[in-house]
Amino acid sequence: MAKPKVAVFDFTGCEGCELNKLNFENHLLDIIEHIDIVEWREAMDDKAKHYDIAFVEGSISTPECVERIHDIRNRCDFLVALGQCAVSGGINAMKNLRPLEESREKVYGKYKDLFPTLPALPLSAYVKVDFEVRGCPMTQGEFLKLFTSLLMGKKPIVPNHAVCVECKLRENECLYERGMICLGPVTRAGCEAMCPSFGQYCIGCRGLVSDPNKNAMVEILTKHGLSIEEAEKRLKLYNSAVYTENLQ
Ligand code: SF4
Ligand code: SF4
Ligand code: SF4
Repeated sequence: MAKPKVAVFDFTGCEGCELNKLNFENHLLDIIEHIDIVEWREAMDDKAKHYDIAFVEGSISTPECVERIHDIRNRCDFLVALGQCAVSGGINAMKNLRPLEESREKVYGKYKDLFPTLPALPLSAYVKVDFEVRGCPMTQGEFLKLFTSLLMGKKPIVPNHAVCVECKLRENECLYERGMICLGPVTRAGCEAMCPSFGQYCIGCRGLVSDPNKNAMVEILTKHGLSIEEAEKRLKLYNSAVYTENLQ
């Protein structure tokens, strides 16, 4: 049986998710044994016309990105959004919270007209996304689970419960008891409550569960010392595109 043709692409992001993939060390050879990597700017020069699976990192934030993501969609059978920038707009989407012209001027100064810009949005704002690997960066374990499911022709299981559930299953002491504040109650699980398990509060890097009670979360945060403005800022760190979803 022919191996699936796989390509990797990046848009607006820090490329941390892709680098995370190159760091697979113990699994990289096994992965390569089961696929043909036909295009990946970070690792090779080759180009291909068609891909069975395209892994795409980064958010869409320029007219050129829009054109390119449509082109990739047209060439692939399955499109996987890799990491939170691709899944929800990620940190980049904070730019959407202020006038675009203001950001453009701040970054490019007098050369701003050379750099057309758009609100930073997830891939799904423009094309159909078949699967998502959340997180900033995406975790290797979750990528491997999705990758294995795709190779076996199975639908991957996508968690839609809060990080708190995984945190409790790991029998962690809640960080609120230690005077910290944590976004676990509204953040989508899948990371095995990685941060609270190491004594670090959750900053929400996997985005929100599908029906988050944002008002209750703001209430908890303000009860623990944040102003409403600070609480909303925390929630927007990885969820700005949710707050600005009609910008496209
Ligand atoms: S999700 Fe995070 S690690 Fe991945 S590209 Fe975006 S900023 Fe970088
Ligand atoms: S530490 Fe955070 S994730 Fe863990 S139970 Fe408390 S609020 Fe939830
Ligand atoms: S605990 Fe929160 S911040 Fe840490 S990896 Fe999980 S979702 Fe991201």
